[in-house]
Amino acid sequence: MTERVLPPPTLRLTVDTEALAANWCALDALSGGASAGAAVKADAYGLGVETCVPVLRDAGCRTFFVAHWSEVAPVIAHVPGDQIAVLHGVLTEADCAYARATGAVPVINSLDQAALWTATGGGRCHLMVDTGINRLGIALGEAGDPAVAALEIDILMSHLASADERTAMNRMQAELLSEAAEAIPHQRLSLANSAGIGLGESFAFDLTRPGLALYGGVPREELAGHIRPVARVEAQLLQTRNLAPGEGVGYNATFIAPTHMRVGTVSIGYADGFLRARGPGNALFHQGRALPILGKVSMDMVVVDLAAARDLAAGDWLDVPWNLADAAQQNALSAYELLTTIGPRLRQS
Ligand SMILES: *Cc1c(COP(=O)(O)O)cnc(C)c1O
Repeated sequence: MTERVLPPPTLRLTVDTEALAANWCALDALSGGASAGAAVKADAYGLGVETCVPVLRDAGCRTFFVAHWSEVAPVIAHVPGDQIAVLHGVLTEADCAYARATGAVPVINSLDQAALWTATGGGRCHLMVDTGINRLGIALGEAGDPAVAALEIDILMSHLASADERTAMNRMQAELLSEAAEAIPHQRLSLANSAGIGLGESFAFDLTRPGLALYGGVPREELAGHIRPVARVEAQLLQTRNLAPGEGVGYNATFIAPTHMRVGTVSIGYADGFLRARGPGNALFHQGRALPILGKVSMDMVVVDLAAARDLAAGDWLDVPWNLADAAQQNALSAYELLTTIGPRLRQS
């Protein structure tokens, strides 16, 4: 029997952990007197909790936001449970029991959630107040409800709907949170996500909750000089071939070679998060040389034009642009989608 050795993967995601730590420190500094936490939901926006949470912790982060209870365990492997906030709150007694068993803290979002948390034993929690996004959170009019008064609230928070835009709604939401803060006893106040930090210190309150910008996204110009790219994606050429004029490429032959062409098949596809919207009109790169994408993106592959790099052969690595600012503009995908659709084959590499 020969030993089973997994060969190296043909695609890889490299997380620049120094840039990640630097981005957290920059966002913490931009938060002024407030501290920055970190949104690490959706497996740290696709970049991996395993990789990102220890780096954020070592940089000084002490509050970590996830959406689901299923996301607590991977985070709690690296930080104390009471530093984890679960944004979806508690819907069932099982959620409450899990919160108490792990120490992770629910963000209470409704009077029903408040009553359930209290009925199952109460204890420290966070409270979301809706100030206009109409997604999660109690209404301002519910601030005086006895179910709210019964809570032991650490972070009183709200979420900005349009922090990436210049709109009067931002200031209005901040004012509504301040109003809620007068009516509801709490330890700390929190409003700003990444873009909200760019709005200035008056939006930072006690704790900010950046996600996207930690991972290299720049949702507002004010952050541009402060945020470094974090994710680098590369994929290997699997095969090269020559096309005769009139030959088609990929499913449905949506690209037809107009002339003799040298093309290459690359080991990345939509299952890896390289969605079809990133096909024609975009390019992969080799040492700065653009290699236009031909035809449809397949599940595991994409074909590129090698006219600018005829020397390349199977095994050569290509850069797959994951530049959050540019790529989002080119592809009608938001930077958030670019990150959170990164597929498991790429993440495990
Ligand atoms: C996801 C999320 C964040 C982080 O937002 P970014 O725009 O990624 O910085 C902050 N707060 C809440 C409530 C969230 O759901």
